[in-house]
Amino acid sequence: MSDLPTLSITEASKKLAAKEISAVELAEACVAESQKKNPTLNAYLEVFDDVRAQAEAADLRRAGAEAAEVHPLLGIPLAIKDNILIAGKKVSAASKMLEHYVATYDATAITKLKTAGAVFVGRTNMDEFALGGSTENSAFGVTKNPHDESRVAGGTSGGSAAAVAANLALGALGSDTGGSVRNPASFCGVVGLKPTYGAVSRSGLIAAVSSFDQIGPLTKTVADAELLFNAIKGKDVLDSTSIESTKSEIRNPKRKIGVPQSLLEGVQPEVLAQFEASLKKLESQGYVIDRSIEFPSAKAALAAYYIINFAEVSTNLSRFDGVRYGLSRKGESLWEDYAKSRAEGFGLETRRRIMLGTYVLSAGYYDAYYGKATEARKRLRAEFVEALQKVDSIATPTMPTPAWKIGEKSDPLSAYLADIFTVSANLTGNPAISVPMGTVSEGGSTLPVGIQLTAAHGDEAALFTLGRVLE
Ligand code: GLN
Repeated sequence: MSDLPTLSITEASKKLAAKEISAVELAEACVAESQKKNPTLNAYLEVFDDVRAQAEAADLRRAGAEAAEVHPLLGIPLAIKDNILIAGKKVSAASKMLEHYVATYDATAITKLKTAGAVFVGRTNMDEFALGGSTENSAFGVTKNPHDESRVAGGTSGGSAAAVAANLALGALGSDTGGSVRNPASFCGVVGLKPTYGAVSRSGLIAAVSSFDQIGPLTKTVADAELLFNAIKGKDVLDSTSIESTKSEIRNPKRKIGVPQSLLEGVQPEVLAQFEASLKKLESQGYVIDRSIEFPSAKAALAAYYIINFAEVSTNLSRFDGVRYGLSRKGESLWEDYAKSRAEGFGLETRRRIMLGTYVLSAGYYDAYYGKATEARKRLRAEFVEALQKVDSIATPTMPTPAWKIGEKSDPLSAYLADIFTVSANLTGNPAISVPMGTVSEGGSTLPVGIQLTAAHGDEAALFTLGRVLE
């Protein structure tokens, strides 16, 4: 039964319920697949040693429960990004700084998944502290794209996306600060959801940019993404920015999709062709495509995003000083202790962001950079709110290109520019999903690409509806 890992969560859940398969069989099949493929892909930084025990516990629970009490995730093997805490397991944010750190508590999303009975296969590779877009910034090696091993899997949740695409788990959790769930979903041909800001608790997520970060699911199908999202969402006393998700408050669908035509200029022609084909599909289902919507502040989105990102990264990572947490190196003075620990513990991109963030927050430059960026953010948010009163969703390609070659974007600016479509939803807090929209050919490879849909705050339901139409 080696095809077990190819099942979607929904399919596997039915088979488990019908007792056609056991959680142990399912988990062991995923572990076997990982043993075969992970040495090349490097999707997992660690496959846990208690996967079988977790699955046995799930089987026992099912045997002792009424079918109606059983959560659809009971016994489902999931991959978890290496910045989400699971008590008793290592969690490193793919950084040398936290290489040996063991989590002392569960992230709220993990608590909820444990209550449901999910099985955790391992922790997945990522860009260090979720800073990047290709998983090339991991301190523990790049994750390779299962569709072409000479290419990146995307990032920063590249390990989670590759694990799902290569059937090393049935679904995964990632985190999205400026596209890190959607970008690797697009590059690896899976579904990725960035929920409304606050819909999923950030308690137990290692902070990158607290005002952008959201945990989100990566799955094979839209139905699976909805299932995982519903399992992890909700207001949480441990995160004061969390909100009760408003799933029940379904807005009146207008059957209209907005396309910000002027933003599509830099998109690779083959990607654009797939995007147009997806829009046609929506039209054939009775949706009207409105190409008149515009976001005047979108031209400032990337700059605003990166300024706020650097600023919050510099403050969030200041706690890693070699004294309170993380890697500790001794120098001649306390100052040298800090300098040595931070120079050795953080990678190049992380250090770059800490320095730039410290700069944009410094007394003389605060108004010129951080102040302006927050102003641009406010305007963009207002423009999104207005546009989403006219349309159900805003559609763009998720990424302007398919997965790039490992090493191709070593210039950080060129990597930042690839985030043109994803950062807006983090600036504005809107939910956004990436759904596969076919493939393009490049350099002899067939590479998946994704379409991104963004909806009004709290309206994940619209994304699931549209996502199903496109699937
Ligand atoms: N590529 C973006 C960045 O480098 C997004 C990262 C993320 O979402 N964690 O900040």
